[in-house]
Amino acid sequence: MIPFVDLKAQYLSIKDEIDTAVLKVLESTQFILGNEVKALEEEFASYCNADYGIAVNTGTSALHLALLAAGIGAADEVITVPFTFVATVAAICYTGAKPVFVDIDPVSYTIDVTQIEKAITERTKAILPVHLYGQPADMEPIMEIARRYGLTVIEDAAQAHGAEYKGQRVGSIGDIGCFSFYPGKNLGAYGEGGMIVTKNPEYTHTMQMLRDWGQERRYHHVLKGYNYRMDGIQGAILRVKLRYIEKWTEGRIAHAAQYNQLLADCVPTPVVLPYSRHVYHVYAVRTSQREFLQQQLNEHGIQTGIHYPIPVHLQTAYSDLGYQYGDFPHSESAAMEELSLPMYAELSTAQIATVSQKLKEAIKTL
Ligand SMILES: *Cc1c(COP(=O)(O)O)cnc(C)c1O
Repeated sequence: MIPFVDLKAQYLSIKDEIDTAVLKVLESTQFILGNEVKALEEEFASYCNADYGIAVNTGTSALHLALLAAGIGAADEVITVPFTFVATVAAICYTGAKPVFVDIDPVSYTIDVTQIEKAITERTKAILPVHLYGQPADMEPIMEIARRYGLTVIEDAAQAHGAEYKGQRVGSIGDIGCFSFYPGKNLGAYGEGGMIVTKNPEYTHTMQMLRDWGQERRYHHVLKGYNYRMDGIQGAILRVKLRYIEKWTEGRIAHAAQYNQLLADCVPTPVVLPYSRHVYHVYAVRTSQREFLQQQLNEHGIQTGIHYPIPVHLQTAYSDLGYQYGDFPHSESAAMEELSLPMYAELSTAQIATVSQKLKEAIKTL
């Protein structure tokens, strides 16, 4: 049996350090925010080459607060992609603003930068590119367009811890970067977690207040805030795991290289653009026979995933945005053809060989 993700294997590899760190928090009783979370903020910001880190309870909250800090609200528009996890779009709606979609580039699965300008209106306030699957969006043209139109750029880096664009870590290229520590992400908590990074001290101050009831100091509420604080235990766990992220990322990259080689003449494998350090949150192949292949692999005990079967513009919950089938053809065909193979640092070369072999055999029977 080869699972799609294996959180247990990673825990066992660092169990002593994790258990010690958790016990330390229990002893300290700093259950919410506290010293461990503060230290994580500094260490993670430094990992991203940013100046400030603001720890929150989820990646979705990170996006919500980033948008609020940028002054986005009702009557504003935010440009993003429909081919993403729903949270990207939900966070825009939480502010009252309207998400305006631009299709993806079919090779990189990230925003098609050639289509951004024609989506800009008088109401546009921000661009929210998603570094999908762990590959950075093409940030240079995005930043150039944003500067020209006076827009804020918020990076959805929930799938891209440690990814690089032209040698620069994602999260610190735009004005604000948002990360998720959902357990299955490249850097995962043992519960929920998220982080915002930025170089802007005013945004930092606003987001620190917003995550904690809008307080400047205790019971002095200067903003209408939220309860978006990170747990102390998650902070301590993430600090331990941050020390391993580079090793684990290099493992993912090596696994992707092995898959690429074994599957080269069999299915379209991920394309890494010359500007990218792709960190393979998802290893995505494409096939028009997805259901059949999934079922064949499943019969051999190999779990796979689909990211994502329905683009957001075709989701019932977002039908009020007024989009329809045919509006974003590259997103729609990716949603029909994408298949995610097992990908995590602890996979063995033998397991990757087995997955590749079984996939090849299944394709031969087509
Ligand atoms: C996981 C994810 C989020 C949301 O993060 P949570 O921590 O689950 O709230 C946002 N955007 C993308 C692209 C994601 O993959």
